[in-house]
Amino acid sequence: MNVRRLVVANWKMNKTAAETADYIDAFVVQLPSLPRDVEIVLAPPFTSICRAAAKREGSRVRLGAQTMHWELHGAFTGEISAPMLREFGVSHVILGHSERRAHCNETDRTVNLKVHTALEQSLIPIVAVGETLEQRRAGVTDDHVVAQTRAAFDGVDAGALAGVVIAYEPIWAIGTGENCEPAEANRVMATIRSSLQGLRETPILYGGSMNTGNVASYATQPDINGGLIGGASLDPDGFAQLIRSAASPP
Ligand code: PEP
Repeated sequence: MNVRRLVVANWKMNKTAAETADYIDAFVVQLPSLPRDVEIVLAPPFTSICRAAAKREGSRVRLGAQTMHWELHGAFTGEISAPMLREFGVSHVILGHSERRAHCNETDRTVNLKVHTALEQSLIPIVAVGETLEQRRAGVTDDHVVAQTRAAFDGVDAGALAGVVIAYEPIWAIGTGENCEPAEANRVMATIRSSLQGLRETPILYGGSMNTGNVASYATQPDINGGLIGGASLDPDGFAQLIRSAASPP
């Protein structure tokens, strides 16, 4: 199985456009020392995307958005559409992040609508799935993430699934410093991979308190193809160090 690797920085609601410019200046000079086999995606806030697009030009850094609407235009105050993102060279979009599911009414249904729009608009969806601590304790983790995965990709051809990305993010591990054990994360991710036909070559990322100290122990797991990183992506040197440790095992 030859699955591509990627590391995605989810900055959430952090960094002004000026801070974004400083970050990318500091980050791109490190690119020659980073492994070539790891795709790098930065997902800044919408207000920084234009600046980020100019700053990363000519480098191998790719741009992601943290969400988008499923409609292409219209009366949706405060929303952003796929064509608006494409205009600035955005290639990836995070969909169904647990913070948006919890605070912004994101549901399996809206994630599915957005996945279809993303694929139609040539954006790569990064679909986040994951269980709460209560669900883990109740022993329903696998059922929950499988149901989220199947709902997200409902109606998508199996042939298109190699072109999407899934992030397994146990909610109890996000921003808490309590990462899921790599072997357990790998087990859940193998379950996600076998939940639909067509996911054999789909990158599945781990997310949840990943950092420079623990990333290597995830990188050696067979069903983990990279990471979706929140807090540890906010410092350009630390993020570069994390990517160095996320390379494929020799
Ligand atoms: C995230 O929000 O996607 C995430 C994984 O955050 P953190 O790395 O801070 O746990």
